[in-house]
Amino acid sequence: MAFIPNGKHLVAGEWLAGNGTFSSAPAHGPAHEFAAGTVELVNRAAEAAEEAFWSYGYSTAKERAAFLRAIADEIEARADDITEIGTQETGLPVARLQGERGRTTGQLRLFADHIEKGDYLDRRFDAALPERQPAPRPEIRLLQRPVGPVAVFGASNFPLAFSTAGGDTAAALAAGCPVVVKGHSAHPGTGEIVAQAIDAAIKKTGVHPGVFSLIQGGNRQVGEALVQHPLIQAVGFTGSLAGGRALFNLCAARPQPIPFFGELGSVNPMFLLPEALKARAETLAEGWSGSLTMGAGQFCTNPGIAVVIDGADADRFTTAAVAALGKAAPQTMLTDGIAKAYRDGKERFTTRNAVKPLLVTDSSERSAAPNLFETTGEKFLADHALSEEVFGPLGLVVRVGSLDEMVGLAKGFEGQLTATLHMDAADLDAARRLRPILERKAGRVLVNGFPTGVEVVDSMVHGGPYPASTNFGATSVGTLSIRRFLRPVSYQNFPEGLLPEEFLR
Ligand code: NAP
Repeated sequence: MAFIPNGKHLVAGEWLAGNGTFSSAPAHGPAHEFAAGTVELVNRAAEAAEEAFWSYGYSTAKERAAFLRAIADEIEARADDITEIGTQETGLPVARLQGERGRTTGQLRLFADHIEKGDYLDRRFDAALPERQPAPRPEIRLLQRPVGPVAVFGASNFPLAFSTAGGDTAAALAAGCPVVVKGHSAHPGTGEIVAQAIDAAIKKTGVHPGVFSLIQGGNRQVGEALVQHPLIQAVGFTGSLAGGRALFNLCAARPQPIPFFGELGSVNPMFLLPEALKARAETLAEGWSGSLTMGAGQFCTNPGIAVVIDGADADRFTTAAVAALGKAAPQTMLTDGIAKAYRDGKERFTTRNAVKPLLVTDSSERSAAPNLFETTGEKFLADHALSEEVFGPLGLVVRVGSLDEMVGLAKGFEGQLTATLHMDAADLDAARRLRPILERKAGRVLVNGFPTGVEVVDSMVHGGPYPASTNFGATSVGTLSIRRFLRPVSYQNFPEGLLPEEFLR
């Protein structure tokens, strides 16, 4: 039988109603009523998380790994129901939900393995120098400790992998931090069923129930109260620049400011170097079209901008891009609001003198078809709006007159999640000029690939200078993401019996 949500919040092991309700707005299938979140529920969840920290924060890596693996198992046990409600709520295809589920359970298990290895503790040891003159040196050791209760805001476009039990939750739980999730209003039923899986894992492994709570949204007060709650010690956020900035400002204005790890939007520029463009303009255009339209363009790593040097090869590239994008069928967007924002974004381009339309499509209600525009480097630099993310399958080709201009344009970009070079061997000198600029601008620099598709591995960085993220020292994907929820502590002159056990294992 299909999953029917209970419409409640999960607070420290109890399913609770709220004050008033909101209705889900699925792309297809039945709408359901959900209890709206309240400040009182936020307080309860934060207090339970703090209480849970005193046991969970000091549990062994083995115990936490067992908990993470149990969550993965419980998600798999609900696989078909998750796919069904996930596809209904988001309009994403079945295969995408199935793939994302694999990524979500894979992340949980990866973190289980990672903490069992112990490297994440970054243990350091400086031996005592009792004979040192003029003053002896005491023994000093360093260890990473969990920060305390963490708030997590999932993204609309990753209902599983960046949501209730997604990367932020997995990293925080692995570190030893209890989590309070603010559910995304675009997929409350998907959030609920994943919370049920976490609840089952809590019961199975016997961890403190305050280690996880899900408070559904329905109003902005919930998120605002959560980031300002004095017991919350860090925030993991994936979403828009506007939403992320509003919550970041609240975190900074607290009496005790806390780190806000916001993974925000990006236009992910690609630089097509001359020899590569000459050799394969059409193939590059087709590849770009595939990346730009994947998931209706609703990826933070969507490569929205292609920079080319003007000339016959650039013409070949734009002609092929128009042809490839013109064949792409309209797709359903995640929410009515996102579809409207996409139409507004397209409008912004069509009404600007600085751009020339290459492919303009009509879309209505929740569907989106690709759009393509073109401008010059000079006009692009003169109009900041052209470098702002349009969430959806909209591309902009920027034609520059020379490699020097391309280098200057690269310097003009704001912080990005990714930047890409398409190059052949003969482009190496040009690429060498761009590399130092691109590595200052982006968290991940790619050669001859497309940035959509983020590997969950040890060496992944999914972050970047503002506005790509609010904290350039962090990543939200890969094992390094655990560091967001850890804090280094030095232990000076400790007798062995008083040292944290992690030093002794
Ligand atoms: P969003 O509209 O910013 O929403 C994200 C979450 O923040 C939701 O829970 C939302 O609550 C809450 N929120 C937003 N503004 C708020 C405010 N002023 N006060 C309190 N809470 C607030 O973003 P989205 O629609 O989920 O995602 C689309 C955007 O995310 C795109 O720009 C995309 O590029 C970006 N994104 C980035 C990454 C990355 O890794 N960098 C990944 C995926 C997506 P409600 O539920 O009430 O709306």
